[in-house]
Amino acid sequence: MTVTTNMFYGEFGGQYVPKQVKDALTEVATAYERYRQDPDFLAELQGLLADYSGRQTPLYYAESLSNYLGGAKVYLKREDLNHLGAHKLNNVLGQILLAKRMGKKRIIAETGAGQHGVATAAAAARFGLECEIFMGELDCQRQKLNVFRMTLLGAKVHPVKTGTRTLKDAVDAAFADFAANLADTFYIVGSAVGPYPYPKMVKDFQSVISKEARAQILAKEGRLPTAVIACVGGGSNAIGSFAEFIDDQAVRLIGAEAAGKGVDTPDNAATMTNGRVGISDGMKTYVLMDDDDQVLPAYSISAGLDYPGVGPEHAFLKDAKRAEYYAVTDAEAVAAFQLLSKTEGIIPALESSHALAQAIKMVPQLGKDDLVIVTVSGRGDKDVNQVAAYLGIDL
Ligand SMILES: *Cc1c(COP(=O)(O)O)cnc(C)c1O
Repeated sequence: MTVTTNMFYGEFGGQYVPKQVKDALTEVATAYERYRQDPDFLAELQGLLADYSGRQTPLYYAESLSNYLGGAKVYLKREDLNHLGAHKLNNVLGQILLAKRMGKKRIIAETGAGQHGVATAAAAARFGLECEIFMGELDCQRQKLNVFRMTLLGAKVHPVKTGTRTLKDAVDAAFADFAANLADTFYIVGSAVGPYPYPKMVKDFQSVISKEARAQILAKEGRLPTAVIACVGGGSNAIGSFAEFIDDQAVRLIGAEAAGKGVDTPDNAATMTNGRVGISDGMKTYVLMDDDDQVLPAYSISAGLDYPGVGPEHAFLKDAKRAEYYAVTDAEAVAAFQLLSKTEGIIPALESSHALAQAIKMVPQLGKDDLVIVTVSGRGDKDVNQVAAYLGIDL
């Protein structure tokens, strides 16, 4: 493998941002490198993860699903059982503690569907910090309930009216605000994306998933899994699920990205399958682009996966052939959503359903001695209306 540094993963990553933003990032990186080793910081984070978010999350043997599929034993890493119903809080709690240590009074974040905005607003409420969320105006209209949730949690939501009025424009607005208000403001990025140090920092905070899962599978089975499968939007739950297994060369690391209506249609978010190397959101990575290198809008039934880029470490792991990435369609994800609900009594998020769909394809081909861990990144209560509509059921 090519050498990775703090800032780069092979050719990917970096800091492709204006000078003022670079200064802001340097301050964050310096503080992070200091506190990531600090026992008091780590103990406080550990306490919040336990008592506020409810960790550790179970590694659950899905016996009924395993019997149904025939083949490997399937274990589910239950990130859906975190406070707020997803893995996002793992990262938000880490970054907000850092903000507090740095003496920042004001928290900002970008959000697409609103999940990261809600997690950030909740944590800011918990710490009594001012919180402002940037969200594309179109996304605000599509996700009114999450806008109200953020307001309820005491955050101010700024509808971003530029460009396509979606996530990318919200990211730009948040970085501009960050550079302008560095003295009192901390920007909590929502996935393992963007300029250094965010991909590294978000990975560290999400690595709690694989730290727990690795110990749990060893305790239950006395051996490592054959494969770990997670869905990839920006890639934070996936890199957190992979992290502690990367050096275990025998463990297959598998990412499921969103093929939307199909990788051969314009409506997909299959960055690894269809993307080219480019620069977007301050990093070099795989990006969905047109022939003029303009970033294309992404589409998936699952709002958390419709991102046209991907975290730089995933781009690196793909090229290094250490991880494998497969595209899963809306139809396959909805079928997995229904199957897990029926076999295990667990309604998974549509995002997580992409990882489950990939498991459903692979598990029957594996042997009885194989173990597969699938990360259930979130719960599906937020998605039931959409699935009903997809299935043509009028509620
Ligand atoms: C936001 C979200 C994702 C996608 O984000 P990653 O950074 O790729 O993990 C996946 N699952 C759920 C439940 C989410 O809320």
